[in-house]
Amino acid sequence: MSLIVQKFGGSSVADATRIRAVAERVQKTQQEGHQVVVAVSAMKGVTDSLIELARQLHPDPVEREMDVLLSTGEQTTIALMAMALHARGTKAVSLTGAQAGIVTDGWHTKAKIANITPRRVHELLDEGNVVIVAGFQGMSPDGHITTLGRGGSDLTAIAIAAAIKADICQIYTDVDGVYTSDPRIVPNARKLDEISYDEMLELAALGSKVMQARSVEFAKKFNVIFEVRSSFNNNPGTIVKEETSKMEDVVIRGVAVDRNQAKVTIAGVPDKPGIAAQVFQTVADANINIDMIVQNVSEKGFTDISFTVAANEAKKAAATVQPLVPEIGAREVISTEAVAKLSIVGIGMRSHTGVAAKMFKTLADAKVNIEMISTSEIKISVMIELDDAEKAARAIHDTFGLAQ
Ligand code: ADP
Ligand code: ASP
Ligand code: MG
Repeated sequence: MSLIVQKFGGSSVADATRIRAVAERVQKTQQEGHQVVVAVSAMKGVTDSLIELARQLHPDPVEREMDVLLSTGEQTTIALMAMALHARGTKAVSLTGAQAGIVTDGWHTKAKIANITPRRVHELLDEGNVVIVAGFQGMSPDGHITTLGRGGSDLTAIAIAAAIKADICQIYTDVDGVYTSDPRIVPNARKLDEISYDEMLELAALGSKVMQARSVEFAKKFNVIFEVRSSFNNNPGTIVKEETSKMEDVVIRGVAVDRNQAKVTIAGVPDKPGIAAQVFQTVADANINIDMIVQNVSEKGFTDISFTVAANEAKKAAATVQPLVPEIGAREVISTEAVAKLSIVGIGMRSHTGVAAKMFKTLADAKVNIEMISTSEIKISVMIELDDAEKAARAIHDTFGLAQ
């Protein structure tokens, strides 16, 4: 008998029919002789509608109340899933994050899991139940409901799998696994049989939303091997695990596109020592995460400084640097969300040369202008115009021979 964690994302539990299909799969797994813990997301679109509803009532809602609100999405699904299993004659009990023993820090809307005490989960399993845990949520030590950041049900599943020492952790979604690129953008993308934690982490952090980046980080830290697969069929998925020497033979594992980016430019900045320090200290003091930075060549003693942030921080970033304009004698602040970040990822990059040159040549041939570049050991990212993102992703995907 194995202990199995199965996580079902929003589209896998989108309506009663989908919930019934998941219940059937879960029941079958249990009937094969396994103990099953199920982690579920809110039904497709529910989290987004709750956010929209909150905005109608307050432009900037208190984060504690956002967590109380958003956690209801997953709470709805656990109860419905339990009912669907009961209807099939399977014993099942739903638990909120707190009831499942998930304790987080107090950082509302992006809480970190501090520890999990899965006593109740084990007891219920031992009594023959399927245990259904609400994804994306926990409770702070002083009793407040917290949420784990968008896509956080992935983290719930992986953290529970680590805490109960599950034999298998399966992440069920609406695609057959992790592909060489988002199959919705690159139609000839290929499903990967396996991928290393580091590559999955980079792809996730660079915009491939198939896994939440923090959940992959957690899996790597606690060595939770997991499989990403489809809840719509029985095809084998993608195994995510520690790298093997064979994996290095492949130079590029995948291409990621992040369309939720913004570029803020401070134009006409006097080119003298101390200005960049002042600008970026101001942004840091406002707790805004900066990704890429470029400073143009100085012309007649003036230059432009541009940096990128997540699109949802664009307004705040522009407002934060605006007061610096008169102070440092700059001309103006220009902010645009019409940019995208395109990245290639692969641990093979460590041992192969010429990868950047090949990427840039492909973009040049496709007449795509590169606005900014950043690299690390296993990735190269470029900032380009939003309108170029899809054609650029397809061209890069072809150049590196990733297609099926
Ligand atoms: P869930 O609701 O199951 O958590 P998500 O919508 O969060 O599912 O993630 C699945 C989606 O991720 C897919 O539908 C796909 O469009 C997108 N995606 C982005 N990059 C990739 C990739 N490299 N491989 C597979 N899917 C990807
Ligand atoms: N419901 C949450 C979200 O939409 C968490 C998740 O689906 O993983 O972000
Ligand atoms: Mg998801």
